[in-house]
Amino acid sequence: MSKTFLNINLCIVFVMCFILNIRAQETPYIKVLFENSSLPESHYFSNATYEGNSWIRNTNHKISVTEGYAFTEGNALLFEYISAKDGNWNVDVLYDSFRGMNYFVEADNLSFWIYIEDEKTKKSLPKLSIILEDNLSTDTIALSEYVSNAKVNTWQQITIPLKAFKMSIKTQAIKGIRWFQSSESSETERFYVDQIELLPELKTQSTVKEIPKLNNIQGFEQHVDIQWEPVKDTLVRYVKIFRQEENNEFQYVGVQSPWINGFTDFVGKSTTKRFNYKISYLDRAYRETSASEILKAETHKMTEDELLDMIQQSHLRYYWEGAEPNSGLALENIPGRTSMIATGASGFGIMAIIVGVHRGFISQEAAVERFLKITRFLSKADRFHGVFPHFLDGSTGKTVPFFGSRDNGGDLVETSFLMQGLLTARQFFNKNNPKEKEIRQTITVLWEQVEWDWYKRNPDSDFLTWHWSADQEWTINHKLIGWNETMITYFLAIASPKHSVPASIYYSGWASQSQQAQDYRVNWGKTKDGSLYKNGNIYFGKQLPVGVSNGGPLFFTHYSYLGLNPHKITDEYCNYFENNKRIAEINLRYCIENPKNYQGYGDDFWGLTASDGPKNYAANEPNIKNDQGKMTPTGALSSFPYTPEASMKALKNYYFNYGKELYGYYGFYDAIALNDNWRSSLYMGLNQAPIVVMIENYRSGLLWDLFMKNKDVKAGMDRLDFENKN
Ligand code: CA
Repeated sequence: MSKTFLNINLCIVFVMCFILNIRAQETPYIKVLFENSSLPESHYFSNATYEGNSWIRNTNHKISVTEGYAFTEGNALLFEYISAKDGNWNVDVLYDSFRGMNYFVEADNLSFWIYIEDEKTKKSLPKLSIILEDNLSTDTIALSEYVSNAKVNTWQQITIPLKAFKMSIKTQAIKGIRWFQSSESSETERFYVDQIELLPELKTQSTVKEIPKLNNIQGFEQHVDIQWEPVKDTLVRYVKIFRQEENNEFQYVGVQSPWINGFTDFVGKSTTKRFNYKISYLDRAYRETSASEILKAETHKMTEDELLDMIQQSHLRYYWEGAEPNSGLALENIPGRTSMIATGASGFGIMAIIVGVHRGFISQEAAVERFLKITRFLSKADRFHGVFPHFLDGSTGKTVPFFGSRDNGGDLVETSFLMQGLLTARQFFNKNNPKEKEIRQTITVLWEQVEWDWYKRNPDSDFLTWHWSADQEWTINHKLIGWNETMITYFLAIASPKHSVPASIYYSGWASQSQQAQDYRVNWGKTKDGSLYKNGNIYFGKQLPVGVSNGGPLFFTHYSYLGLNPHKITDEYCNYFENNKRIAEINLRYCIENPKNYQGYGDDFWGLTASDGPKNYAANEPNIKNDQGKMTPTGALSSFPYTPEASMKALKNYYFNYGKELYGYYGFYDAIALNDNWRSSLYMGLNQAPIVVMIENYRSGLLWDLFMKNKDVKAGMDRLDFENKN
């Protein structure tokens, strides 16, 4: 069973615990019901219907969005409708709930911005109600009562006290806003709505004093990255970005949240153009500060090598600039919970930072300071027989049971991902100075203290067990059984210098032939293919030596092999570079064949794996049952070592043809589902770094070389007798 599968189960069982586990350190968020649709044409998080002679403009029951009229660039909701006598229309604009963001500023008002083109439209404005949990909704109000004095042909803020809906409403419980026909008219009417949010009463009228300052700008092919000094003033609500092309006027092109220090601006297909940029701040009342100084950039045609640099650099930002500040480690997702770090994703991020130093994106000195912060934090953080939990509070180092109260202890798999990164760092920081020595020594202590043998649960067990906690002990009782992403866990357990498990467990546990292991694989894959660990079947013309079903999601071929060089892993069944390559090729060929006829799929749009989805986080696989039409950029891009040509083709397609919607300041957004006109609003900690690391392994083998050079890794290789089989 994959981690993702387990995580989803835990999520469902313990969903209510999310709310209880919020820490005081978490800054409450303003609940925004609509800022921008992530894709043009229509807004996924909506539901538009009409009946009788009425009508509301929509695409597949999703309300239309427009570019060209926006209060917060890039788009707004377009209400175009007929409110007929014998009919009705209805639009629900729904909250896109971000993973982990569930701690909100208690609101007093519903606020949005409206743009009306014609005075007479005011007479045909809809009624509103608030959609609550459990399909409940509030009393209705007439929008016209709040808009009567609004000017036409300009954006106007409408503020409606929540009290007007005649219920006591908790912000947490608000799921959306329902707009529905009130008047009668056979005319087509139109207005625009933007930035729907739930605001507290503004207690202060003080304005932002801080002066915005751009500090870097870089032109690429089709886009410009601008960066600014981190925003300190907590009154800043948005950073507003302006672009000037040639001798034209400055144009307002986007907004950015103040906790992200830059913006990626797509400027169109033509190359070698010059642009000027400036920024300003908006405060909580949307008052604008004066603008920054202007910086200039020029776009230019790029080589494939330059493209790879660009992709590595942007995805790395998630772990460098986007890190939790106290620990220096990786957040679970951005936007998301700002105080909670994910230990496995942090291990991946550590390796991405090393790439950043190697490629000159980050100085050695800055990286050393970061690793001192990371290792000092980790040495004081919660551990359970030396094993880190899945999630830690970045300010206290205490466990955050984000997946529920049972998951409040050590997570052996996440710890193995973290250790893979730390051992790579121990090798990388090899200078004989006090700082790098401290980094190496702290890593050695953390690594040697992991009690892999404890997680075997009892001396006779053939398996490693995923979780243990002081009060729950082995309640979750999830045995690690391959094939999946956990080979690194078995490998490190065998390689450990102080708490190793016998090398025989590789075959008796990870690759077990027992009935229990077979049942486990059949239950996970819903097929007998691969139930004995080895597979041997041919899928899309490719024989698969090892793997359940037809190989599973692609992250199985990434997470364990960021450091562990699959070229060197040859067991009784296969060589794992070859096996991973087959899994990637099967995935590619499935996407070319595209049996479910999803939009976009092809030899330049492929790579099914685990990611955020329209409904939830889910692992997609190259088979009919597990393909939901959602494409995840990390699938193809982290497969560069296995499928360089097809990965490059996907990279170029994602960037050149989908970049405007799919590529942002931290690299590619997590996933896109074209059939649903949905794109994830998230960057995921588990998915950005493997792109950086695996592209580097393709380009130079850097991380593979560093990790494999560890003396303890070498000892593990000897114990497993892998080298002899090559
Ligand atoms: Ca907007």
